[in-house]
Amino acid sequence: MKRSHAPAGADKGSALVSSSMKAVISMSVLPELLSANEHYASAFNKGDLPVPPRRQVAILTCMDARLNPAKFLGLEEGDAHVIRNAGGRTDDDAMRSLIISQQLLGTKEVVVIHHTGCGMLSFTNDEMHGLLAERFGEQPDSIDFLPFSDLVQSVRDDVATIRNSSFIPNDIPVSGLIYDVHTGKLEAVD
Ligand code: ZN
Repeated sequence: MKRSHAPAGADKGSALVSSSMKAVISMSVLPELLSANEHYASAFNKGDLPVPPRRQVAILTCMDARLNPAKFLGLEEGDAHVIRNAGGRTDDDAMRSLIISQQLLGTKEVVVIHHTGCGMLSFTNDEMHGLLAERFGEQPDSIDFLPFSDLVQSVRDDVATIRNSSFIPNDIPVSGLIYDVHTGKLEAVD
């Protein structure tokens, strides 16, 4: 029997769904995500965790889909704040999150993790602005996409930004690491 990749249950109530809606649903990954969540929730027993992270640490890392910080750092629900963006950079929003993490939720350590093969190594601000101008007819000149050409230096820069912030206490340890997407290993950056 030929099976589509849609999970069981994706066709539930199909009589009520128009054919154009079905086309949209079949293109979306959402039914698969919801199906996975049903499985997760069916065995869920961590509904009473406190809000402050148990291990009092905040991780700043890249959104890259190959990185699974919970797995490669051995984190469970409730253990740590994991702040992710393109590159794992210290933009205003990452700093906002780190300050909230420390001042309101008790984290006492920061770990910055960039990684080999990061997409942020593959473009410049000028190229990104040019691409957007071509596709949307306008340039977001005010946006620095924070690409980098030197991986080690990018970690040093973000660690320094955190250490030098007026709103990060001096006694907070801030470490920099690089994750290797081919081996799954972490290496410290001095
Ligand atoms: Zn990346």
